[in-house]
Amino acid sequence: MYKRVLLKLSGEFLSGDSGFGISPDTTADLARLVTGALGGTGVELAVVIGGGNLWRGARNGKGMDPATADYIGMLGTVMNAMALQDAMEATGQPTRVMTAIQMHAVAEPYIRRRAMRHLEKGRVVIFGGGNGAPFFTTDTTATLRALEIGADVVLMAKNQVDGVYDSDPRKNPDAVRLDHLSHREVVERRLEVMDATALTLCMDKGLPIVVFDLFQEGNLRRLLTGERVGTLIES
Ligand code: UDP
Repeated sequence: MYKRVLLKLSGEFLSGDSGFGISPDTTADLARLVTGALGGTGVELAVVIGGGNLWRGARNGKGMDPATADYIGMLGTVMNAMALQDAMEATGQPTRVMTAIQMHAVAEPYIRRRAMRHLEKGRVVIFGGGNGAPFFTTDTTATLRALEIGADVVLMAKNQVDGVYDSDPRKNPDAVRLDHLSHREVVERRLEVMDATALTLCMDKGLPIVVFDLFQEGNLRRLLTGERVGTLIES
């Protein structure tokens, strides 16, 4: 049974069918899914939201100064964090957005001890702005913040992928799902879990990771109440 978890959501979970931008309906569905799963479990939940629905530095910023392109991506994650906050609060769940890049008019600055206090009080804390540094992704933010706040696990939410496979299940119909792996196996077999920097940090610090299908009915609730779902990666 987990006490405190970090849930990593991709920006694309907010965009609906178009795959781009923020759909209020899709965001409301996502918020209901997450707060519905959380309700009554007593688990403290922190969320890192990506920005791929709006901007990815390396993909969208071709020809630009790469650092500037990444800062644009980080700002995108703040927009997503605000949209998610709005939708979660509409379900009655208290939340706080904390940003790595300070923007006092829209959110609190990220202060580690304050984030932990919010969690203790039952607020969902949504981390926006990535790490506040270019050349990273929000996978590293998820790992970094999880370590900082003492989360028991990083939950890597996927859509229509229910764990880690030995090869890409979309390309190989014989791909086999792996239920339990060590960090080292994931590195050595180059399995797709999170980017290499984030994975190495998890391995170095012994932080467990669960890769699971968020959109499969009941999965998040089962995870939060201590059931095994998806693929568990630990040392
Ligand atoms: N980004 C960054 N530093 C960070 C986190 C994110 O520069 O610490 C930028 C980077 O350009 C990235 C973009 O923000 O491409 C969006 O984040 P990400 O690609 O991780 O979003 P996701 O794929 O999870 O939706």
